[in-house]
Amino acid sequence: MCGFVGIVDGKNCSRDVVLSLQALQHRGQDSAGLGTINHGQFPLVKRLGLVHQGFGAAEIEQTPGNICIGHVRYPTVGAGVLRDAQPFFFRQPGVLMAHNGNLTNLREMHDELAENSVHLMSSCDVEPVLCIFSLELMKRRRRDHRLEDAVEAMKTTMEHIQGAYSLVVALVLDGQETLLALRDPQGIRPAVWGQLPDKQGWMVASESVAMDVLSVKRCGDVAPGELMVFRAGSEPIRHQLKTASPSPCIFEYIYFARPDSHMNGKSVYSKRLAMGQALADAWRAKGLEADVVIPIPDTARPAAAAVAERLHLPNREGFIKNRYTGRTFIMPKADQRADALKLKLNPIRSEFAGRRVLVVDDSIVRGATLKHTIEIIRAQGPTQVHLAIYSPPVLHPCYYGIDISTKEELAAPRFLPEGLAATDPGALQQIEQAFASRLGLDSLTYLPLDGLRAAFDGPACAACFDGLYPAPLDEKQRSWIAEDRRKSDQRTLGI
Ligand code: SF4
Repeated sequence: MCGFVGIVDGKNCSRDVVLSLQALQHRGQDSAGLGTINHGQFPLVKRLGLVHQGFGAAEIEQTPGNICIGHVRYPTVGAGVLRDAQPFFFRQPGVLMAHNGNLTNLREMHDELAENSVHLMSSCDVEPVLCIFSLELMKRRRRDHRLEDAVEAMKTTMEHIQGAYSLVVALVLDGQETLLALRDPQGIRPAVWGQLPDKQGWMVASESVAMDVLSVKRCGDVAPGELMVFRAGSEPIRHQLKTASPSPCIFEYIYFARPDSHMNGKSVYSKRLAMGQALADAWRAKGLEADVVIPIPDTARPAAAAVAERLHLPNREGFIKNRYTGRTFIMPKADQRADALKLKLNPIRSEFAGRRVLVVDDSIVRGATLKHTIEIIRAQGPTQVHLAIYSPPVLHPCYYGIDISTKEELAAPRFLPEGLAATDPGALQQIEQAFASRLGLDSLTYLPLDGLRAAFDGPACAACFDGLYPAPLDEKQRSWIAEDRRKSDQRTLGI
């Protein structure tokens, strides 16, 4: 998962991009980058770590320009080093590009570029896309490229790339600084756009919170398969390049996106409330009882409030979160994740002691942090510990840009009895009971898939829950992605 921002304006905008990137910091903490176009030059600065650590007055001064794209990165491909940080730049005809997502045919693209003696400088999957797009542009014209060249080049590029992607591009077309935004045909990864307060400039971003910080008017989403073209002082131009069934990532609404974001016309916060209500119904149907509802902060807070309201139970803060630690899931190394949890959550004993507690969390992926969390809860002296998760069991890897690329790293499949399919009647209960017993819980309740789909209310990718992958993906590509992920883990863990 990554986050991007692009602004084209009549005035210098790199400072605004740095500000809005900080609003997207939850989407990637590994590295950040900023690229602009300034009088025929393409200043580009990239730094490892958080935006505020790497981008101060000096970096903003180094990147002047009326068009700027920025990126925060969490590595799903590659090991998380500076050479993989985005945006990337291609000299001919001068193109900056960044993206959020995962290209499933990366090796095929590498082979194709190698056939043309194009050498890559990183493991980042946006670099081959940039090369293909730039080469396609150069095939159409040697210089003074026009908008129609870019539209045709992007159309051809889309024929070469597969997977989930939202791209932002900065280049000069028709002699004007031009910002492009493209979304994959299924719209798996998000991309929103808006108008700057001066009404001259435009902005695109992974999430609307990046626009809120600049008081940018939210205008909508880049549609699945759509290329949007933005220039200062003129209306956006829209080209529908490909059409497929829309399948936005449902996990954005469960965990990744900020609750104050809007994407695909839906408020993330309101979807989390709806998931909490559906979870309360699933819990109530089991005939269980509790004295208090406690969220695992911060992501589970809206859903826990909805669970408590629906069950007529008090909703209490049982944990205080240290605001100065990173998100545990998004930490690249497993040992970093365990240490981060100890730093992150401190319990309030009085909320647990002597009570039957119903703890609400967003999801269980690897389960490593959960085991430690339950140990912390048990140490506070509750009489019963029930856990309710407002998503179904994660049973399948994600190949579309979220760091759950191998089945062996997932916790839930280990509790599905051999010979039983996840869709078989009773499978969910078997997983819940076996997993609860392993974790030392009095009960575990997942939100069933139909409850999640009803709460989301619209088409969505839910492949990590149901195994139905919306974008083309063959066995070869699945094993390439898993292999790359394993290699990356070994590199980051120093194995
Ligand atoms: S597989 Fe899961 S995490 Fe990946 S895009 Fe689909 S819903 Fe999102």
